[in-house]
Amino acid sequence: MSKGLLFVLSGPSGVGKGTVCSALRTRMPELIYSVSATTRQPRAGEVDGVNYFFKSHEQFQSMIQNDRLLEHAEYVGNFYGTPRDFVEDTLNAGNDIFLEIEVQGALKVMEKFPEGVFIFLTPPSFEELEQRLHGRGTETVDTIMNRMTVAADELELMKHYDYSVVNDEIDLACMRIQSIIVAEHCKITK
Ligand code: 5GP
Repeated sequence: MSKGLLFVLSGPSGVGKGTVCSALRTRMPELIYSVSATTRQPRAGEVDGVNYFFKSHEQFQSMIQNDRLLEHAEYVGNFYGTPRDFVEDTLNAGNDIFLEIEVQGALKVMEKFPEGVFIFLTPPSFEELEQRLHGRGTETVDTIMNRMTVAADELELMKHYDYSVVNDEIDLACMRIQSIIVAEHCKITK
């Protein structure tokens, strides 16, 4: 049995990765999505084990020490990481898995899974990105400034990815990602 494909959707915070990913879940319910661990506090409506596994700093550190994370990154004061076993088990069972993670983590996954398919979600413009972060209403002005600085550096890293997808409209962005998934399955391995 052949292994599944690993898809990684990444890009600057505020570009709409979360929104695109949840729209994709509706369109592709058969696709398996990785649930990350994080030390960040849950936002209103977020459910433990569904949106994230919410962990204390101690719990997160012990996951790192026990090699239970495929990658992890510190991002604006919080830790985020991808549970390793779930990813490996899913791929070994012949199923695809989809990760939605920030750029530093994606670069680490590239080292471990160079055969993965890496998709970079870009904002239509930098101004639009700032507006979206403000519009989200969940972040303080300081946090937004921090995230914009990180975003500027992150846009530089796009060249390491296999695909870039503009998030001008959710539906279009989803359609592009679905096309990539289909194309990757049609690819002749050389
Ligand atoms: P938020 O706090 O807005 O949910 O997420 C902040 C950033 O962390 C987003 O860019 C999101 O994609 C990223 N992120 C979520 N889970 C992971 C993960 O497991 N690993 C890494 N490296 N980043 C993650």
